[in-house]
Amino acid sequence: MKKIITASAEETNKLGKDFAKKNLGGKIICLEGDLGAGKTTFAQGLLAGLGARGPYTSPTFLIMKKYQNVYHLDAYRVDAESVLDLGWEEIITDENNIIIVEWPERIRKIIPTKAIWIKFKWIEKNKRSISFNN
Ligand code: ADP
Ligand code: MG
Repeated sequence: MKKIITASAEETNKLGKDFAKKNLGGKIICLEGDLGAGKTTFAQGLLAGLGARGPYTSPTFLIMKKYQNVYHLDAYRVDAESVLDLGWEEIITDENNIIIVEWPERIRKIIPTKAIWIKFKWIEKNKRSISFNN
């Protein structure tokens, strides 16, 4: 378990950008943590690092936004069934796809065990702790 403390939103964004250098093909990256913990900030860095073409609008009102082979899902207001209806099984079995999920705990039953989990915690105004499960 690797744990990193960031001292600004820029640092969290950069961490996401660097994380994109890993081989993430076919991977589901679960970003877990409370509101304001930095999930979207990290996701936007990750999207940039993966070369996804912006703008990186928050998917909060979209459920899922697709950037070429990269998907950004916000499961805050949805249930597992409605995500399945988006073609979830097909999306996650395509090894070319990379799927970023905010609020994965809401749809835990459809998250495969191979998923990467990253946990975000609010420490103080500009500080966040970010832990990786691998
Ligand atoms: P979430 O998606 O988890 O709800 P966001 O990334 O949308 O969180 O929001 C995090 C908020 O906290 C942003 O307004 C960001 O500017 C601010 N912030 C302050 N410090 C940090 C930090 N170290 N990492 C990430 N965000 C930070
Ligand atoms: Mg968010």
